[in-house]
Amino acid sequence: MQSLSDPTLFHQACLIGADWVEAKNSAVITVTTPETGNTLGHVPKMGRVEVAQAIDVAEDAFRGWSATDPKTRSKLIRRWYDLVEANASDLGRILSAEQGKPWAEGIGEIHYAATFLDWFSEEAKRFYGEVIPHTANNRRFMVLKQPVGVAALITPWNFPAAMITRKAGAALAAGCTVVIKPASATPFTALALADIALRAGIPPGVVNVVTGAAGEVGAELTENTKVRKLSFTGSTEVGRILLAQCAATVKNVSMELGGNAPVIVFDDADLEAAVQGTMASKFRNAGQTCVCANRIYVQDGIYDAFAEQLTARVKALRVGPTFDEGVEIGPLIDDAAVEKVQEHIDDAVSKGGTILTGGGLDSRGGTYFTPTVISNTPRDAKVLVEETFGPLAALVRFSEENEAIQMANDTEFGLASYVFTNDLNRSWRVIEALEYGIVGLNEGATSTEVGPFGGVKQSGIGREGSRYGIEDYLEEKFVSIGNV
Ligand code: ADP
Repeated sequence: MQSLSDPTLFHQACLIGADWVEAKNSAVITVTTPETGNTLGHVPKMGRVEVAQAIDVAEDAFRGWSATDPKTRSKLIRRWYDLVEANASDLGRILSAEQGKPWAEGIGEIHYAATFLDWFSEEAKRFYGEVIPHTANNRRFMVLKQPVGVAALITPWNFPAAMITRKAGAALAAGCTVVIKPASATPFTALALADIALRAGIPPGVVNVVTGAAGEVGAELTENTKVRKLSFTGSTEVGRILLAQCAATVKNVSMELGGNAPVIVFDDADLEAAVQGTMASKFRNAGQTCVCANRIYVQDGIYDAFAEQLTARVKALRVGPTFDEGVEIGPLIDDAAVEKVQEHIDDAVSKGGTILTGGGLDSRGGTYFTPTVISNTPRDAKVLVEETFGPLAALVRFSEENEAIQMANDTEFGLASYVFTNDLNRSWRVIEALEYGIVGLNEGATSTEVGPFGGVKQSGIGREGSRYGIEDYLEEKFVSIGNV
């Protein structure tokens, strides 16, 4: 990894309370960098006993933190934001090294991650209870908003910083304490962010980080009755397992799961905006985001021009090592990711699709994959059913508006969708008909801390960011006063 201006941000131990701890049996997980495959460092492989200790510490801290006045909590979260910004360069280096995304995207994610701390430092002061008009003169009714309790946050590798701040910012603002389990591929960003929370003056025990084997850590986080909330971002497959595990203790859950985002480009779209928006949605983080375009439906009249321009843009993308200047597509996270993209390409081609550019590994080898466009993707191709999570743009031709809506909705997923049209009436019809939690109209990058992020159908439960995000960490208490 490139050297850090503050090397003490790089931790190879877990944070429990104020202590940086190893696993009792000294077991470790090796973390490598996708850029070269070389080892970056090690993190402890915590067992259930150590995870339970972290939960105990978070529960102790909950008493004090939930009783801290919201204005003080707000100031501390704001200070966390300030210090994340002050250390953005180091954090971006750690993030890109372990995740592989180009350096510009890595530092971009740190700034994006910081916006959630900024936002929720404000929201800490702005969640309101309610007084309900009484039904008899001697009674009074009100609703208090109170923090859920200790929250377990399980996060994925594709956004090692933003998925943590989007959850933890909201949790801390509400008065919850957290035990974070980052993805084993990207633990160092999480550990650095937690260190910065301590440096900001957030009391020890409010933010804890445990690393380890997903199944074992997940079992303790979901079965321990002291954990009252689980917020998970990851695949629908793992989300289902966690939901089932949470059923036994009836935990409050938020789930940000997989997507299979459609893009619909109508004949009346602005071609340049449609190509630009599709590029932004499809190739961010080399296609490894849950809001990445996966299926691109293009109407007959604009299909050929769109395919030609998109292909030209895709050919021009610069694939290369994470820290090289001007790189736009870094290595994929691991070999399994490469295999999945290749499988989707081979499947589409075997069923009649045509490769317009790309189609396989980049000449660098490793996990560097050439950005690919497939035309005339057959309707039974895997890429139209499963999330690819890689740099493959699959184009499908359609002729009628209803046909496009029907194909877009024909999936168990419902996270993000994108529509390109300049027809006002059509925009409304399509926006309302799409069964998705997010619709981007004439743009491909919708994520912002001020808008609610989340899915419908099997893409999830709950919303993150925005004024809705804090609600996932609050419960209503109804107070009924008699004999007034
Ligand atoms: P992705 O590979 O896209 O990150 P996953 O759903 O596989 O998606 O993983 C997301 C997070 O969930 C990671 O932190 C991973 O370690 C964790 N995870 C995976 N399986 C389980 C499980 N059975 N219990 C708890 N956490 C899990």
